[in-house]
Amino acid sequence: MEDKDVVEGKDNKKKVTENLNLLQSTQTVIKNALNKLGYPEQVYELLKEPLRILTVRIPVRMDDGSVRVFTGYRAQHNDAVGPTKGGVRFHPDVTEDEVKALSIWMSLKCGIVDLPYGGGKGGIVCDPREMSFRELERLSRGYVRAISQIVGPTKDIPAPDVFTNSQIMAWMMDEYSRIREFDSPGFITGKPLVLGGSHGRESATAKGVTICIEEAAKRKEIDLMGARVVVQGFGNAGSYLAKFMHDAGAKVIGISDAYGALYDEDGLDIDYLLDRRDSFGTVTKLFKDTITNKELLELDCDILVPAAIENQITAENAHNIKASIVVEAANGPTTLEATRILTERGILIVPDVLASSGGVTVSYFEWVQNNQGYYWTEEEVEQKLRDVMVSAFENVYNTALSRQIDMRLAAYMVGVRKMAEASRFRGWV
Ligand code: NAD
Repeated sequence: MEDKDVVEGKDNKKKVTENLNLLQSTQTVIKNALNKLGYPEQVYELLKEPLRILTVRIPVRMDDGSVRVFTGYRAQHNDAVGPTKGGVRFHPDVTEDEVKALSIWMSLKCGIVDLPYGGGKGGIVCDPREMSFRELERLSRGYVRAISQIVGPTKDIPAPDVFTNSQIMAWMMDEYSRIREFDSPGFITGKPLVLGGSHGRESATAKGVTICIEEAAKRKEIDLMGARVVVQGFGNAGSYLAKFMHDAGAKVIGISDAYGALYDEDGLDIDYLLDRRDSFGTVTKLFKDTITNKELLELDCDILVPAAIENQITAENAHNIKASIVVEAANGPTTLEATRILTERGILIVPDVLASSGGVTVSYFEWVQNNQGYYWTEEEVEQKLRDVMVSAFENVYNTALSRQIDMRLAAYMVGVRKMAEASRFRGWV
């Protein structure tokens, strides 16, 4: 489990390249965190892989009458603390290893914000941008039928992730309720409000990231008013975040989507862009004057927020990053080698497992409200989320300071402890 691999280059010389495998990088940090906490090897053996992963094949009748068979996964990392919880991703690049890594990150996030859950994650290899509304409905329902034996409100609770939304959650909840023959709002979170969704869930990840940015800016003595912010990705996490930063008086000078990036040193018109973006977070196609995602990441700015996909800041571009703070809204956007380079350069990285845990926190609030059948106001949700995020940030930041380590390792130490303890008390290790 090395963070670097030695490979043959074109000129047949041995070259050191970075290991971009998310699962292996995650396992490396988990191992370091458990070592620092003094746990024996058997705890690492238990936690380095999910307890179970189900691979399913989902036949879907397409609108033209043909049948396509899609591959889907559901991984459950560790359920010692409680039921597993985590989103379902619809993306052509979904792999088993990615779903495994994402389920481990969910366990860490739940530990960091102290929720009574372990981590889970699901994914389907598909491109929803090329599917019709009804094809997506059939795929969503087919996935639930395929995994229904291992999920449920007290077993494993799915939620939205990349390219899935509240409509897809509604179909999945309806399918599960039909299979079980009772109304089961607590089976899934991220639902529309009328079906038991929670106020604040849609913008929760971005709100949590915003709270982390506020806390990090205080530590770095950066005034958010007028601070230059760059956001990669303009989907659920990125677009709300750009809006919150704009509303806080910051200047959002760059945003991007899968097709390119927009830059204006005087600040972009975020309300206009929000109005024009489509449901997949695409907006740059409407403009001629664009820059690349690579150029976007290297813009001169105070705060950089990767909010799109993994492996975006690597050893190749880490030396060119000009931000003082990098706050990871996306899962896995910075490699371990890049983390080392940025940390050495004095750039503060607020890691994904902390920064993007606002989503699962409000998902937990949604599940609690479903279970009690009593619903909270938007203000109540926001205040509870703020309390959780500020205390999680302080815990991780202070661990990093006192142990003289980066915030990623500190977050893993905080995140892994509850699950390791629960596994030990249950007699598993
Ligand atoms: P989304 O599907 O709503 O948006 C994704 C955005 O990234 C879109 O703007 C898309 O165009 C862009 N994108 C896709 N491929 C890209 C590429 N190759 N280069 C640049 N941009 C690209 O997804 P989301 O829910 O906003 O999730 C974004 C990230 O945040 C993911 O890593 C996800 O796991 C993480 N996250 C999301 C939540 C949540 O509640 N939505 C919670 C925690 C973490």
